[in-house]
Amino acid sequence: MESLIQEKLQALFVDYAKQLPQQVQQIDLHWQILRANWSEEQLANFHRKVQGLCGSSAIYGYRALSQMGHQLETYLKVLIEKKSIFTDEIEGEIKVLLNELNTTSLLAEQESPYIKSLLPPQKKLGVEHKRLVYALDKTNSLYREVAVSLSEASYTLFPLEDLAGLQNAMEKSLPIVTLVDVDTLESHELQQLTEIYNRQEAYSSLFCITNNGDLATRLKAVRAGCRAFFTKPIDTFHLVRLLDQYSGANMDKPYRIMIVDDSASLAEYHALVLQEAGMVTKVVNNPLTVMEALGEFQPDLLLMDIYMSECTGIELAAIIRQQTIYTSIPIIFLSTENDRFKQFMAMNIGGDDFLVKPILPQHLVAAVKSRAKRSAILSALMTRDSLTELYNHTTILQYVEVELRRAKRTGIPMSLVIIDIDHFKTINDTHGHLVGDYVIKKLSELLALRLRKTDVVGRYGGDEFAIILPDTDHKSSLEVCQHIFTMFSEIIFEVEGKIIPVTLSMGVASAPPLETADTMIAAADEALYQAKRNGRNQALHHKHK
Ligand code: GH3
Ligand code: MG
Repeated sequence: MESLIQEKLQALFVDYAKQLPQQVQQIDLHWQILRANWSEEQLANFHRKVQGLCGSSAIYGYRALSQMGHQLETYLKVLIEKKSIFTDEIEGEIKVLLNELNTTSLLAEQESPYIKSLLPPQKKLGVEHKRLVYALDKTNSLYREVAVSLSEASYTLFPLEDLAGLQNAMEKSLPIVTLVDVDTLESHELQQLTEIYNRQEAYSSLFCITNNGDLATRLKAVRAGCRAFFTKPIDTFHLVRLLDQYSGANMDKPYRIMIVDDSASLAEYHALVLQEAGMVTKVVNNPLTVMEALGEFQPDLLLMDIYMSECTGIELAAIIRQQTIYTSIPIIFLSTENDRFKQFMAMNIGGDDFLVKPILPQHLVAAVKSRAKRSAILSALMTRDSLTELYNHTTILQYVEVELRRAKRTGIPMSLVIIDIDHFKTINDTHGHLVGDYVIKKLSELLALRLRKTDVVGRYGGDEFAIILPDTDHKSSLEVCQHIFTMFSEIIFEVEGKIIPVTLSMGVASAPPLETADTMIAAADEALYQAKRNGRNQALHHKHK
């Protein structure tokens, strides 16, 4: 797998070298056009071509060529900013610079490009990772305080007395969380702790414990990279809930990165570098198709070129940010631009970072990873329901929109099923809330595990669930419902030796004929209501009630 990526990278380098003479010729051609007919537009085109060469040549390791290109690029940028008119002097300058560029490009064949992207091998996470917790505390009192509660919640807690011990332990296995008593650490130790943690490639978080909840201590904790803050005595119930959220949040799934760049080869190069670091990538070359691709790929982060011919990355970011689903998705801009003002504009519009090309592979990976990590933690905490770990109400509604848009575009039907547990209140009232919770959990496990990977499952409300079935028309959706009935009937709920019967009712709606998310939800709700009125334990389709 890894060697395949290496091969692909190598092939990209060879391809780049092959097309280089053509790329330089193109620049010449644009210069001829500009010279014959000087205009702001042609100047901008010429500049963009040169800029493209600068960025790509630097990335592929042609240092001299990129430096030479940069001189010409800077000169042209000044002309653009000053809105200069064409003079003999300008013509002379550009000719000299272009000549140099041509010569350097001929010599470039001897400059041997190299791949620097060999990243350190990934540490593999053990299965126990999600249940492993370290407690760093010189006096061991932290360990004693929480050990019992954590073990009851099936976490394995290891006491560690000092930073050297922590570092050693982390090299062997990475915990889901390290609890640290900040009061027992000197400030240089806190610094060291941050460094150890920043070096981690994979998910592992720091939770801070302190005697003192004041602002200065909290600030110290935040700076050390702590994700949660507890004062003593520790509320172990809250601690366990938070651990459950972190361990249930599927944080070890690979980050999904979408790369938007109209240069296909650069985009692929970046994609390969990120893939090599274990991420899943999707390249979009036409910025105008970005919205569709976002909905389908559901990235954790966007890596976007600033200068593209169809529209700029800044414009695109502004549009993406207007959609509520994407207000918090991190956007990293990538460009040869080193103009401070433009960077500021980019950040202002909602970019999270600005990387200047060429960027070393390991820097790209580090920047993308740290942003994607934060985004994945946040979105996992925000989009999941804590009892069932399914998507919550808001998120499932957003998915209805996403899938509906896809269905309309492709002409492939989709369906929405709303499931409600029958007489759930009676189960609660008769057997208690814990039994009720257990029923909810069992049903959610069944839905999460037994449906297709492409189906989206969420907890719609208390005892209500929603399932989005892409590529499923009304007839097939009813078959899915039957399948759920069968599987659910195989689960036996037993309390104190007595079997309690639990049944479900379902309401289904499909697109087509329905066209909007609102009408689908209303229709599925209505069908569910009918199913309840018809005597429960059945599924009804809105079209066929
Ligand atoms: P119906 O067949 O008409 O659906 O009857 P029902 O009793 O299920 O009625 P309804 O759906 O209105 O009742 C849902 C109940 O679920 C009400 C609420 O107290 C309970 N509930 C909601 N969330 C939870 C939860 O997280 N755990 C438990 N145990 N109960 C919950
Ligand atoms: Mg109910």
